[in-house]
Amino acid sequence: MTTLYGTLLQTPSPDECTISPQTVVTLGSDGRISEVGRDKTAATDVVGGDDCWILPGFIDAHLHVPQWDRRGIDGLSLFDWLAKVAYPAEARFEDADFAERLAEDFVTGMIANGTTTVSGYGSPFAASTDRVFSVFERRGFRAIYGMVLNDVDCPSSHCQEADKVLDESRALAAKWHNAADGRLKYAFSPRTPIHCSEKLMRGAAALARMLNCYIQTHVAESISGVQKVRERFPDRLDEIELFEDMGLLTPRTLLGHGVYVNQQQRRQIADNDTVIIHCPLANMFLEAGLMDYVSLRAAGVRVALGSGVAGGPDPFMPRVAVEAINTAKAVKVHGLPRGTWPAPRPTEAWWALTRGAAESLGLADRIGSIQPGFEADCLVVKPERWIAELPVEQQASALLYTLRPDQIQHVFIAGRRVGP
Ligand SMILES: [Zn+2]
Repeated sequence: MTTLYGTLLQTPSPDECTISPQTVVTLGSDGRISEVGRDKTAATDVVGGDDCWILPGFIDAHLHVPQWDRRGIDGLSLFDWLAKVAYPAEARFEDADFAERLAEDFVTGMIANGTTTVSGYGSPFAASTDRVFSVFERRGFRAIYGMVLNDVDCPSSHCQEADKVLDESRALAAKWHNAADGRLKYAFSPRTPIHCSEKLMRGAAALARMLNCYIQTHVAESISGVQKVRERFPDRLDEIELFEDMGLLTPRTLLGHGVYVNQQQRRQIADNDTVIIHCPLANMFLEAGLMDYVSLRAAGVRVALGSGVAGGPDPFMPRVAVEAINTAKAVKVHGLPRGTWPAPRPTEAWWALTRGAAESLGLADRIGSIQPGFEADCLVVKPERWIAELPVEQQASALLYTLRPDQIQHVFIAGRRVGP
């Protein structure tokens, strides 16, 4: 039985951070946390130490697996980037052996960065999607994943026939949704409303509802994207109204980006209990825009954070969370008039990376917290020593801003040590 020992950091709510030094976390043989306490006299197989911290694993709720080895290619606008980087990266997944090899690298990279759960897009190819799921299963990874759907305005290598890909997606969902003791989930993944026919969007929504799966898609990521949707659907009020009519606005829908949503749209998203995945690094990298996180939260929208890989260049989720704070500060200080509201605090950033993301993904009864009964998705990290000597109210902030991937010593998913 493995025992973790160190300072336990948890954020049960956006305003609440508990830091408990010298904590003993016992992992049961069923992959769940069996005990959290102080007594390690009977412990065997102890990992950690007085200078280590125990954190819930990070949750990255928006990324693209085929783009794992295309990070950091700067200088392109969103649609140029799609044409020159994203589509060619995905096209390689026509070869399922290639997809398997890249998925192995991807999982290794995610674990090295402390990410224990992802929600990711695949390629337009069913065989590769299946193979990537097999890698996730074998490696003990936790993922919401799905085949990308697009049948309009995309390269011929990607353009699908709606009935065929809906059938393929349904078969993949039947095989993989809730597989591997519930670690794997299926997401119907229409790329964007620009790239999907109404038939494909309605079909994806209906199947997701029928099979109780997730939906993930992109919304209002850039001004040019919003304009393209307007041109394609001139009779629609906007993207959110279109999504609602297609059946795509559900509590299990993860809308990527949402940079250009107004207050009325935020309320509509909140009323449907739909989730927005904030990808601040990607929004800046592709010069899409600055999302108003504070207004989104104030409107009651459920949120999680995404690296946006490879539109986002860095998969390290604390870095993404810092960028979320930076973006909110930029919106505040450059507002006219300058904002007077408080920027999100590091406590909220930790919550958004762990407990808050688990809540938004509907997984809060399984992951995101380190307490008995929860599945043991945990990190043991060894940050710089001085952080523990700070006044306790400064520690979560210092840890968020200074933690590095090379300080991650152990990563557990469902109680199994998976790396790094
Ligand atoms: Zn994306």
